[in-house]
Amino acid sequence: MDNKSPYLHPQYETLSREEISKLQAERLQATVRHCMNVPFYQQKFKDMGITPDDIKTVDDVRKLPFTTKQDLRDTYPFGMAAVPLRDCVRLHSSSGTTGNPTVILHTQKDLDEWANQVARNLWMVGLRPDDVFQNSSGYGMFTGGLGFQYGAERLGMLTVPAAAGNSLRQIKFMKDFGTTAVHAVPSYVTRLYEVMQEQGVDPRRDTKLRVLAIGAEPHSEEQRQRIEQMMGVKAYNSFGMSEMCGPGVGFECPEQNGLHFWEDYYIVEIVNPETLEPVPDGEIGELVLTTLCREAMPLLRYRTRDLTRVLGRSCPCGRNHVRLDRMRGRSDDMMVLRGVNIFPIQIEKILMTFPELANNYLITLTTDDDNDNMTVEVELAEMFTDDFGRLQKLNKDITRALKDEILLTPRVKLVAKGTLPVSEGKAVRVVDKRKVYQ
Ligand code: AMP
Ligand code: ZN
Repeated sequence: MDNKSPYLHPQYETLSREEISKLQAERLQATVRHCMNVPFYQQKFKDMGITPDDIKTVDDVRKLPFTTKQDLRDTYPFGMAAVPLRDCVRLHSSSGTTGNPTVILHTQKDLDEWANQVARNLWMVGLRPDDVFQNSSGYGMFTGGLGFQYGAERLGMLTVPAAAGNSLRQIKFMKDFGTTAVHAVPSYVTRLYEVMQEQGVDPRRDTKLRVLAIGAEPHSEEQRQRIEQMMGVKAYNSFGMSEMCGPGVGFECPEQNGLHFWEDYYIVEIVNPETLEPVPDGEIGELVLTTLCREAMPLLRYRTRDLTRVLGRSCPCGRNHVRLDRMRGRSDDMMVLRGVNIFPIQIEKILMTFPELANNYLITLTTDDDNDNMTVEVELAEMFTDDFGRLQKLNKDITRALKDEILLTPRVKLVAKGTLPVSEGKAVRVVDKRKVYQ
């Protein structure tokens, strides 16, 4: 492992499990004491009859109250601040479809640590100050913009804040500036590649690209492999979440065997979302995170609603930070159709195994004659659009493969490339038009 990065706390990257637990216990105690500056937590502790002195070991985290997104909404805008507002230098906000958005506050130290986290990840996958990093993700409130910007600068790379969209300009920048690394949401990388194809640009021949960081939205292993084949480079999964800081919370190492979640920054728990009890390693549950270094807005046992599982606590790369499986999606992404639970990623996984299909797809749920139905529209890769017999067979094969996966028969519609909507930020994969019976 190349551990010569000067500013990324390399000593923490290779801690043994015992050392991680010791560090976490110390940081947890400090965090809990700090949380007593927040009336919300004061009240919770009072209600539960606990004091910060009850928290001594990492396992004591289970004595602590959970925090939910609703709690952040209820305390909107500044109710979760653990420091005076004058000590905060930035806020991010994640938009809510209903009610108040959530607000995340940062002190300068929080921003510094966040940049260190992102820089650590980028260093881990081989990026160095000689690299040119193009950040093709949205800027503004979305943390993928500024989060990667400051992290890439912290590492010392020439950083191009290209932002999302305008693919022709993205490609020009990549060629002209000698971009070696790009960060973008996976659905945007596939779009970028399609535009490259239209323009006769071959990323292997015409660019110096060697690393992709993809994340911020659920994607399947099959989607990642497609992206790697298209672009001819490794694509590393990046997990981020505004409430924890943004990108930098978890990232794949060169082994690509799960996301290392940084346990010097967070305590990671996987719980059963119904009982809230911990599940054994390997079993899927809800990811719950406790911040260990946050000043402005420490969060105890934050229920992320993301579903994943522990894959291991050691790695051939030499890092012992817990490895988590790629996210299945959030519990609220789950579709319940005729009593069957389905995640969009299950559909994606199947679609991506058909080379005749392009990358964009849309799932629409409707109620027809009082029956709930699913329609999967998926774009065809160009060369297959004219042979009707072949299309019919393809449609049948896809339908059957989907049925085997989700146990329901969806309607499959094969559409021409470029006809489904593309979003600049996180992809919208599901449109629910079902009648809601009250
Ligand atoms: P936001 O705070 O708005 O950036 O959204 C954070 C959420 O995005 C997480 O809770 C996940 O649901 C999702 N997310 C972020 N990164 C990934 C990833 N690498 N894979 C799957 N989902 C992700
Ligand atoms: Zn590793």
